[in-house]
Amino acid sequence: MDPSSGQLIVRPVSDFPSRPRLLARGLTRRCAWCGDRKAYFTGWFKRQERCHACGHAYRRGDEAFELGAITANIILTFGSLLLTVLVLVLLTAPDVPVLGVMLAAGAVGLFGPAIFYPVSFTLWQAVDLWMRRPTPAELSGEGDATL
Ligand SMILES: [Zn+2]
Repeated sequence: MDPSSGQLIVRPVSDFPSRPRLLARGLTRRCAWCGDRKAYFTGWFKRQERCHACGHAYRRGDEAFELGAITANIILTFGSLLLTVLVLVLLTAPDVPVLGVMLAAGAVGLFGPAIFYPVSFTLWQAVDLWMRRPTPAELSGEGDATL
C-alpha cells in the first residue's frame, strides 16, 4: 500500500515458484505468488481481493474463481472423509465399531468444509497459477490475467 495515495502497489514477482512449491503454498494457506502466511485473509472466513504482502489479486480476471475454490473444498473434505473411514476401519478390523466410524465421518463431513475454507481458496489459486501460467505483464504487477 502506498501511504501517500492510498493505492495498493502490486509487487513484481521475479522468482515465480515451481509447480510443487505452488501447491505446497496453497495447501498451507499461503499466497501462491509470494508465500505470505496471511495471503488475502483478514479472518478465517473473511478475505480481501488482494494479497496483504504482494498485492496480487486471487481472481486473476476470473469472475467464477469461487467455483474452483468450492470444488477444491469438496475434494479436500471428501478426501478427509475417505481417509478417516479407511484409517478407522483398518485400525479396528475385524471388529469395526460402525457407530463410532459413522460419528467420526459425520464430524469430518460437518466441520471439514469450514476447516478447509481458507485452504481451498489458496489451493485453487495455486492450481490456477499451475494451469494458467502468469503473463509477463501479470508477473510485473501491471494487470490481471485475462481469460
Ligand atoms: Zn502474495
